[in-house]
Amino acid sequence: MQHFLIIGGGLGGLFTAAFLAKEGHRVTVLEKNAIAGGGLQSFPRYGRLFDTGMHVVGGFHEGGSLHRICRYLGILDALRLHPVDTDCMDEITYLSDGTTYRIAGGREGFVESWARHFPQERGALQAYVDALYALTEELDAFYLRPAGEELFQHSEPFLWAADRFIAHYITDPRLRDALAYMNPMYGGVAGETPAFVHALISVFYLEGTTRFAGGSVHMAEALTRCIESHGGRVLTRAEVVRIAVEEREVRWVETRDGTRHTADCYISAVHAHELLRLVGEGAFPKAYRRRLLDLPMSPSLFCVYIDFKPETFPYINHTCYVQRDYGRLWQLADYDESRWPEGFLYMTPPEAEQGPWAGQMIVNTLLPYEVVKAWEDTTTGRRGADYEHWKQRHIDRVLDLLETRHPDIRHAIRHVFAASPLTIRDFYHAPRGSMYGFSKNCHDIVRSQVPVVTKVRNLLLTGQCVGLHGICGVPLNAITTAEAIVGRNTIVRRL
Ligand SMILES: Cc1cc2nc3c(=O)[nH]c(=O)nc-3n(C[C@H](O)[C@H](O)[C@H](O)COP(=O)(O)OP(=O)(O)OC[C@H]3O[C@@H](n4cnc5c(N)ncnc54)[C@H](O)[C@@H]3O)c2cc1C
Repeated sequence: MQHFLIIGGGLGGLFTAAFLAKEGHRVTVLEKNAIAGGGLQSFPRYGRLFDTGMHVVGGFHEGGSLHRICRYLGILDALRLHPVDTDCMDEITYLSDGTTYRIAGGREGFVESWARHFPQERGALQAYVDALYALTEELDAFYLRPAGEELFQHSEPFLWAADRFIAHYITDPRLRDALAYMNPMYGGVAGETPAFVHALISVFYLEGTTRFAGGSVHMAEALTRCIESHGGRVLTRAEVVRIAVEEREVRWVETRDGTRHTADCYISAVHAHELLRLVGEGAFPKAYRRRLLDLPMSPSLFCVYIDFKPETFPYINHTCYVQRDYGRLWQLADYDESRWPEGFLYMTPPEAEQGPWAGQMIVNTLLPYEVVKAWEDTTTGRRGADYEHWKQRHIDRVLDLLETRHPDIRHAIRHVFAASPLTIRDFYHAPRGSMYGFSKNCHDIVRSQVPVVTKVRNLLLTGQCVGLHGICGVPLNAITTAEAIVGRNTIVRRL
């Protein structure tokens, strides 16, 4: 039995700790916040629980990756899952022509939904969806299949740009645009984001989109109980302020209260730049450090939280997307003050016992960090009046656009508040408020691949910086990290 110290108790840290604890190892998780969970955390405001970074989830259907993983960890029954409507898992509205596309889940449903609006593209849509699934088949991890010994060669379209991949099959420019509607779920950039990222996210949600009911934090609590039931510990309010590395080996880790923690092996489950800050210069070879610092970051976000008056706004059991016009979905992370927001997604997270009325809404709209850079030296609650004005102006812009879909929404609002890229930066210690770790570029995919082993002998990485982000990717990255310790395919064969 080895003792592992895991720095960061977010999605990646908790899953990695749970796998290792179940494999018989001793684990201690150090989390800076008062509640563990990272993206799974919820926070109370106005008598409600609001979620921070896990609104739309998937993989929980029978046979899905999360279903298998959570069953193996023994936490499946503890989860409160609320599947969205299969006949309309998502809808996207273009304000320019007033069209709302309602998109059904499942392979057939998806094709049918779009073919209703674009009958001349039916065959092309079928070929496109087949190609999406074919790309996901190239990744054993996505289906939790043991990795083979042979060096796998990916197909050419795997590394096409996602927009090129869509255009390869689809002719109608409106349909080309609309098929990228899940872009906010991965922050895609035209000509850069690889087709496989678009395919993995699309297929993941097509196969079964779900929501956490009554706050996503209960999943973090279930993971914590799993870790503790195997003898592990999750320490909160335990911010790591230094990782001492000598001769390419971690010697100890210091938390803010001055305690020094030691272990046989250390796993960083924080953003890679946060790790570099904690180890200081000299811990890693210069080239490795430079490489991590130079990797492009995924975009940030402005998130509007709405608390509704009782029985004023109907609960909507699917995610809604709005775009001002066609042709802008791949530029969502750009910022033109006169047009912002170009589009966004919004949803009504379910209560533990969800009835016909929504208690709350969240609106996620991409926003570059540069827009809030003027306040980057400030801290939460002390950013100043001009920041508060800026925030209110942006909340109003979001509400103006929402009103085009729900004209009475302002009357239904009891409270409204927002999180900016600075909130995200400070809450997760995610540099530049980056949502999804490093962004991937199809022209240089090797560069954006960060191995879980590092140049420091007893230090490994986990979390979204070492693979795909979100509930789709981070638990799989946790398996990769845990298997780097317990042996290739060991965990995947047990699932
Ligand atoms: C606003 C927003 C909405 C999102 N919506 C979705 C969604 O709907 N669906 C989806 O699948 N994904 C979504 N994501 C992405 C998802 O939240 C992330 O991919 C996921 O949480 C990343 O997991 P992680 O473990 O790498 O990082 P995190 O979950 O961020 O965990 C990192 C943890 O490390 C802790 N930490 C940082 N520094 C230190 C330190 N020095 N000492 C100790 N602890 C430290 C942090 O407090 C945090 O708990 C969203 C992200 C954001 C920001």
